Amino acid sequence: MSNVAVCVRFRPLNSRERRINGDLACIHSFDSESFVFKDEKEDIRFCFDKVFYSDSEQLDVYEFLASPIVEDVMNGLNGAIITYGQTGAGKTYSMEGPSILECVEHNKGLLQRVTDELFGFLRHPVDNKKFTIKMSMVEIYMEKVRDLFDLSKDNLQIKESKTRGIFISGATEITITNSSEVQQCLSIGIANRAVGETQMNLTSSRSHCLYIFIVQHEERSRSGKFVLVDLAGSEKVEKTGAEGRLLEEAKTINKSLSALGNVINALTSGKTNHVPYRDSKLTRFLQDALGGNSRTALLCCCSPSPLNASESLSTLRFGTRLK
Ligand code: ADP
Ligand code: MG
Repeated sequence: MSNVAVCVRFRPLNSRERRINGDLACIHSFDSESFVFKDEKEDIRFCFDKVFYSDSEQLDVYEFLASPIVEDVMNGLNGAIITYGQTGAGKTYSMEGPSILECVEHNKGLLQRVTDELFGFLRHPVDNKKFTIKMSMVEIYMEKVRDLFDLSKDNLQIKESKTRGIFISGATEITITNSSEVQQCLSIGIANRAVGETQMNLTSSRSHCLYIFIVQHEERSRSGKFVLVDLAGSEKVEKTGAEGRLLEEAKTINKSLSALGNVINALTSGKTNHVPYRDSKLTRFLQDALGGNSRTALLCCCSPSPLNASESLSTLRFGTRLK
């Protein structure tokens, strides 16, 4: 099995979709790994490592997608979990839950569950092997890396070192030891992201959000990294007649999403003599969490509604190409 798992998650229909189309959805003859996607033109069968439907629980997604990666990270590998899809498809819900302040046990997102499991190891270290966990949170917008724990750092550089691998130089790192500290960090990062949006008149759907956990084992010289990435929306902006900054944004997003696709494609197809990591900041930073000694999961988020069929199809095709 390749070290990249590609999964799909359909969110429930929302009230607008229900109002217009009732219960109509594009998914037919489905099982846990495949389904037929039906739009007005065609029926296409898609297969993935795992498919989560509208009734899936956050815990199901965590257990399949993230739990094995946490274990690998504890064993010294790097890891990445990436959510892909159009705006409104459920990327942030999968990562953070419905809202970081209102999460209850059953709807906690991947972030809270990942860190809870890491803290479990922290309290009960295997073979008494001690380690610390630090957290950073950055946003990549128009190929600029911004620190979400300190907005004055708005153009951080990506560097590489023997002990750290590839890292974001100067990014604020906060040591975390329990879930309330994580909650606090997330609240700060999310609030700062909103402040930045207002100041620059942006929407968060146009930037990539990276939640970075650095795991430093006492007895190892090199730290491990575990990155969760909530990608910018994959929707096509050009067709709506965007111009000026909006068009530039759209082009930059397209470029970095296709760079990500090209990198994962090169890794999964085994054609690793040239993996184009340097084509975007995102892939450059993720280089040592995607290739080599690492494990990756990509969650392709989709709406099940015919209203979003063309964007869902494009997301599913993106995912299929990576297998
Ligand atoms: P994205 O981050 O991809 O733009 P969101 O995660 O913000 O999309 O989801 C859009 C809306 O749908 C939000 O109101 C979110 O709470 C809701 N939603 C998404 N996925 C689910 C799900 N699996 N179950 C319930 N509500 C969901
Ligand atoms: Mg979002």
